[in-house]
Amino acid sequence: MTYSRRVLTYAALAVALLVAFLVLLVNREPTRCYGNSRREAFSGRANGVILILCRNKELDGLRKTMPQFEFRFNHRYHYPYVFLNDEPFTEHFQTEVRKLTNSVVSFGTIPKEHWSIPDFVDKNLAEEKRNNMKRDGVMYGGSLSYQHMCRFNSGFFFLHPLLDGFEYYWRVEPYTDWMCDIEYDPFAFMKRNKKKYGFTVVLYENQDTIPTLWDTTKQFMREHKEVVNPDNTLHLVESADGSYNLCHYWSNFEIASLDMWRSPEYKKYFDYLDRKGGFFYERWGDAPVHSLFASMYLSIDELHHFEDIGYFHSPYYNCPANPALQLRCECDPTHKLNFASNHKCFQKFREMQYVKYKGQE
Ligand code: GDP
Ligand code: MN
Repeated sequence: MTYSRRVLTYAALAVALLVAFLVLLVNREPTRCYGNSRREAFSGRANGVILILCRNKELDGLRKTMPQFEFRFNHRYHYPYVFLNDEPFTEHFQTEVRKLTNSVVSFGTIPKEHWSIPDFVDKNLAEEKRNNMKRDGVMYGGSLSYQHMCRFNSGFFFLHPLLDGFEYYWRVEPYTDWMCDIEYDPFAFMKRNKKKYGFTVVLYENQDTIPTLWDTTKQFMREHKEVVNPDNTLHLVESADGSYNLCHYWSNFEIASLDMWRSPEYKKYFDYLDRKGGFFYERWGDAPVHSLFASMYLSIDELHHFEDIGYFHSPYYNCPANPALQLRCECDPTHKLNFASNHKCFQKFREMQYVKYKGQE
C-alpha cells in the first residue's frame, strides 16, 4: 500500500468512528435522574401519568407550576402528561405547554356526556338550587361549570381513553407550588407498597356543600355491604355518634390507583350518588366523594400520606416539619396554614395507623 493510500484508509476509519460515535450520542437513553434514585428511575419506572384538568385560560398557572414540578421531580423521570378539558385546547395552549417539559404530552377533550346534566336530574330544580346556594354564600354554589367539574372528577376522568393502560395518576393543578425535591419515584413507591391512594392534606369540608352526602353514603353502605372493607378506614370520617365529622382528603393533590376508580365497587357507589342528583341539587365535591369511598373500601395500609412532598394549593400547605425532610425543601413548616400533620383530621389518620401497628405486635 502506498503511503497516500494508507493515509486515506486511516482518514476514512477516523471518519467512520466519528460518525458511529455521533449516532450513539444522539440515540442514547435520555438521562432520567441523578443521585440516589438513579436505579429506580431506570429499572422501576412505574406505569404512571401526570393528569391536569384545566382550561385554556389557565396557561399562566401552568407556566408557574410546571417548571417547579419538572425541577422538583419530573426532569428525572419523564412521566407523560395528559391534559383534559371540556373544550378543545387551542393550538397556542398546546404549543406553549409543550415548551414547559421534555415529556410526552397529550391533550384530550372530555366527551359531552361526562360534562352535562344527566336526564334523571331536573334541570329547573337544579337551577333553582344553584340560585339558592349562591344567595346563601355556598362556596362555588352558583356555578354549574364547577358542578360539572366535580362530577367529572368523581365519576369519569379515569374512563378517558388517554388514560387507558395507565395504572396510577398524579393529579396536578395549575397555580400550585412544589417546594421540595422529590428524589424518588412516588409511582414506584405506590406500586411496591401496594398503596391505592396517596394524599398530602386532609381537612374539613364545608357542610353546606354536602347536606345529604353522608346520609346517602350510609344508606349505600347498608344496601351494599359487599363494598365495605371489614378492615376499612371509616374512623377517619365517622364521629362516635355516627355523624360525618367532615374530614376529607384534599383531592387537588392525588397520587392514586386508576383501577380503584375503574372497579365495579366504585361504579356502584358513584352511580348511586349520581342518581340522587346531589352533584347538581347540592354541590358535592369530588374530594368528599373520593374520601368517603376510600374510607369504606381501603385499609389503612393502602393509604399514604406524602409527608415529604412540599405542596401549596391556596390557601393551605403541606410542608414537612421533620428536619431530615426539610433539607430538600423551601417552605416554612411553622406557617399557620401548614396542615402537614397538625390538623384534627390528620390525627384521626394517625390513630388508625397506631391501632394497626399495635394489632401487629
Ligand atoms: P378549587 O381548587 O376547588 O378552588 O377549584 P379549581 O378552580 O382549582 O378547579 C379544580 C380543577 O379543575 C383545576 O385544575 C381547574 O383548572 C379545573 N377546572 C375547574 N373548572 C373547570 C372548567 O370549567 N373546565 C375545565 N376544563 N377545567 C376546570
Ligand atoms: Mn384548585
